[in-house]
Amino acid sequence: MVETADSDDWIRCFIGLGSNLEHPVTQVASALLELERLPQCRNLIHSSLYRSDPVGPPGQPDYINAVACLETTLQPLALLDAMQALEQQHQRVRIQHWGPRTLDLDLLLYGDQQISNERLTVPHPYIQERSFVLYPLAEIAPQLSIPNQKSLAECLKNCEKGTLERI
Ligand code: ATP
Ligand code: MG
Ligand code: MG
Repeated sequence: MVETADSDDWIRCFIGLGSNLEHPVTQVASALLELERLPQCRNLIHSSLYRSDPVGPPGQPDYINAVACLETTLQPLALLDAMQALEQQHQRVRIQHWGPRTLDLDLLLYGDQQISNERLTVPHPYIQERSFVLYPLAEIAPQLSIPNQKSLAECLKNCEKGTLERI
């Protein structure tokens, strides 16, 4: 059988990006380019960048967030490895749960798969309640359905935009 690059193995996935340290806009913009260049990934599109108040410990700088969508033939854990390698390239240091960070890359959705293991929960458990995820998602995939959850439109109705602003 002849294999083509357009085989059905390409999975559409969504990745949430966030940064609130060391020039967050630059961190997120460069991470988008790096995601685009990952092996076995193609056709990246992304939302605008957004500014939001920090979640987690108080006193942190504001966050810059965005959501990217790409197609990949990487398996979920291989994609997570690649994302974590990019976080490391951005000198991410984990000191505090939900503490400030140079770069956070969260796998929001991997096709329509539901994944639950030691390293990975997909859909990402907090999609439904995070305005900084839902609004950028709606910008690039308004018709999206989230496996085993309400539609994106329904989630948006129940999630206050708060101080989230597009920049
Ligand atoms: P949150 O997941 O609430 O946004 P966080 O992004 O600050 O918190 P991290 O410190 O980036 O959390 O990640 C902690 C661990 O979460 C990682 O080591 C990773 O194995 C695990 N993890 C589980 N599900 C996912 C996912 N969907 N995307 C990214 N990491 C995940
Ligand atoms: Mg996160
Ligand atoms: Mg994370």
